[in-house]
Amino acid sequence: MGWWALAAALPCEAGDARLTTEAAAPTVDDGVVRAALGTYVHGMTPELATSLVGRAGIPTLRVLLRDPGFPRRDNVVAMIACLDDGTATEDLLASLAAPQASLDTAEEDRAMLLAPQALGDIAARGDDRALQALLDMVRPGADGGVLRRAAQAGDDPAALLADLLRQALVGLARAGAPEAIDRLEELAGGGPAPVGAGLDVAGAAAEALDLAASLHAGLPDDPAFSRGAVTGTPVPKTLDAQVSVHDTGITYANHVEVPLPMVDEVLDLVLRDASLRAGRAETTADVACCITLSRAGTAGAWGKVGDGLAVVDTSAEMTTVLNTSVARAKVVRLINDCGGAATNIIGCAWTPGNGMAMVRMSSLAQEGITWIHEYGHNTGSVHSGNLRDIMYALNNGLNDALTQAQCDRFHSPHVSAMATPVVTGSCGDADGDGVHDLIDNCLQVLNPNQLDSDLDGVGDVCDPPDCGNNVREGSESCDGIDLGGQTCVGLGHDGGVLSCNPDCTLNASLCTDTPGCPDADGDGYQSSQCNPSKKTGGGDCNDADRNIRPGAPEICGDGIDQDCNGRDKPCRRR
Ligand SMILES: [Zn+2]
Repeated sequence: MGWWALAAALPCEAGDARLTTEAAAPTVDDGVVRAALGTYVHGMTPELATSLVGRAGIPTLRVLLRDPGFPRRDNVVAMIACLDDGTATEDLLASLAAPQASLDTAEEDRAMLLAPQALGDIAARGDDRALQALLDMVRPGADGGVLRRAAQAGDDPAALLADLLRQALVGLARAGAPEAIDRLEELAGGGPAPVGAGLDVAGAAAEALDLAASLHAGLPDDPAFSRGAVTGTPVPKTLDAQVSVHDTGITYANHVEVPLPMVDEVLDLVLRDASLRAGRAETTADVACCITLSRAGTAGAWGKVGDGLAVVDTSAEMTTVLNTSVARAKVVRLINDCGGAATNIIGCAWTPGNGMAMVRMSSLAQEGITWIHEYGHNTGSVHSGNLRDIMYALNNGLNDALTQAQCDRFHSPHVSAMATPVVTGSCGDADGDGVHDLIDNCLQVLNPNQLDSDLDGVGDVCDPPDCGNNVREGSESCDGIDLGGQTCVGLGHDGGVLSCNPDCTLNASLCTDTPGCPDADGDGYQSSQCNPSKKTGGGDCNDADRNIRPGAPEICGDGIDQDCNGRDKPCRRR
């Protein structure tokens, strides 16, 4: 039994050579932004961060760090941790002192937890400011300082402060400087601790010392950890060669400290997404694999508050998590080790074996990919080399391909996976659309895209047009609020409101048209010849004279209708 980790077992301080230049003004590099939007299943490493963005990307990362709207600030902090030697220290401290984004996504929660650890990696590259900031956080009698302010952003500030203090101890371990180790030894020995921590500081400091020893001992890579890419053999786009469909039930449990636990309803959608990715042949190197994954039982819970296992920092902790027998899949909060240190790992699994661990993601598709990827490791599959592969090491949102060999392992997993797939049908593809029959949402009609706009489980091409369900189908031009993206302007009118008739045809009667209607004299009223209504800006009975318009002062008895009311005003007799 081995681990699977793509990452080399190097802590981030083993990064590239230091540069001394820094961009004068923040500029945003689109390539860096794209890289920071990626999902790195097995975490960020110095090698990966260097190849993706390099130190030249740090100014952009600093801009993204300050942007509360950027959705993957966890990646930003992880990349900074792997690359920076001090230029981003103040930005990290500012992000802790005044958290800008709410912590109600798993990504923001990880970004916050990673910040003290990133300071540790930066300190390990010689930045004294980062080291002093970490020492300040755990000074005897200190109240957490910047961490206390950061914790105010959480639903439970006291609990978040304890978590952040633990991360500060991890940061000191990663820094590895003599002052850092001295401080950890004082705390581990029961020395004066920060006040009001709500944390077993001595125990957490002892764990951090163990981490420091493993990070800085210069040990060779453990040969039990498998690494590197194994390229799958491309096969033509085709149906699975197996005769039956197999379903595998996945049991799961959340660590009690996970702030956004996985729940049954979401996991059902995640595994349905995963099953479609497996069961549809999208590329020439993909088979429509006749397997499904489903939820087995309901959400379990494991771990204890303060056991340190919600944040996995060491291979020993990951072993404990993977071997926890409560369920196959264990949901944790943050992973920094999967048979080797990396930062912000998304998932980790025995390859083969019974045990997988993953964090939450905000995107259903990315969770679907992560769950089937990690279970794929359990069946015995290692990484393969095509960008679209489910077993590709980078979760890019497009991973949906399985080779026949990988598919076969879902049908007949390695014995140590301790999985028992059950037959749920025969493997076929009646309409030849590359989606096997058991999951095809329109069995007899070719619909490789499986679109199901009204989410009724029946594909759009099989849905009878149902006028009145607010979804445009078949020959309908519109249906209720679904106008098919049409607007009055799109139909050639000047403006107004487009709507849908009860028979699902477009209703343009409230679209407005004043094309070319002049206001030649510039008095604010268009010529009454094309726009007779003064209420809509027309009604000018003489568009060549500014003094003649609706509402203009009327001169009596001159034979001219200045106010365009249809007649000259008679003068009163004196
Ligand atoms: Zn993997």
